[in-house]
Amino acid sequence: MNIQLLPSSFDPNGRATSAQPLTCFLIDERVTVDAGSIGIALSQSQRRTVRDVIVTHPHMDHIASLPIFVDDVFAEVEEPIRIHATQEVIDLLKRDVFNDNVYPRFDVLKNERGVVMEYVPLVTGKEFRVAHLKVTAVPVNHIVPTVGLLVSDDKTTVAFSSDTAETDEFWNLVNRASQLDALFIEASFPNSMRQLAEASKHLTPAMLSTELHKLNHNGMDILAVHLKPAYREAVAKEIAALGIDNLSVMETGRVYEW
Ligand SMILES: [Zn+2]
Ligand SMILES: [Zn+2]
Repeated sequence: MNIQLLPSSFDPNGRATSAQPLTCFLIDERVTVDAGSIGIALSQSQRRTVRDVIVTHPHMDHIASLPIFVDDVFAEVEEPIRIHATQEVIDLLKRDVFNDNVYPRFDVLKNERGVVMEYVPLVTGKEFRVAHLKVTAVPVNHIVPTVGLLVSDDKTTVAFSSDTAETDEFWNLVNRASQLDALFIEASFPNSMRQLAEASKHLTPAMLSTELHKLNHNGMDILAVHLKPAYREAVAKEIAALGIDNLSVMETGRVYEW
């Protein structure tokens, strides 16, 4: 399984930087988990192969350029872009984003070949298929309805915490998996900003370390993501200081393989 955290920040020469204001993981050139930078960071060939998008929650950093992506591929798609999310999140996307005010209701529009975007409701706790992947979503502890994910193909299993503060159901799901190759976990704010992390339901490196005690697997790669760009250096230093094996900050733009 190939996973890339798409870039979402660029220097004045147009080169991607490591800062991560938006969240969008690309899996096997085919599926994305969240869609923050989907409309700005896909290559031409990826634009033609990505047709499934899992939206963990409707916060802007996770969906910012999803409308731009659908608009961009509107004329050429031969099958709809499928938006996989809980019914609650679908209802929010319909009400607040694809509402004919912020952007068109693409789910009711067609190109020459048919429907261009389709909402596919997922049920938490129940495995579903997305392209070649098996996915299970469970609620996590964030300020809006949000899911964490367990994602498998025949060979590899990975887990995404999404945005969350302390949580249990996600760890129970991950611990039930027979193997775990990689864990993507958020670390938004430095330890000195714990109050803000708690109020906005995110983790600091210290909180992340406590959460990892709930994990029964070991040996997998642990990649910290969602570091707020303004505090990236401080958070990265605190993550390194935890001294946890195989824990590192995920690099944007790099293709990881398991
Ligand atoms: Zn969020
Ligand atoms: Zn976020």
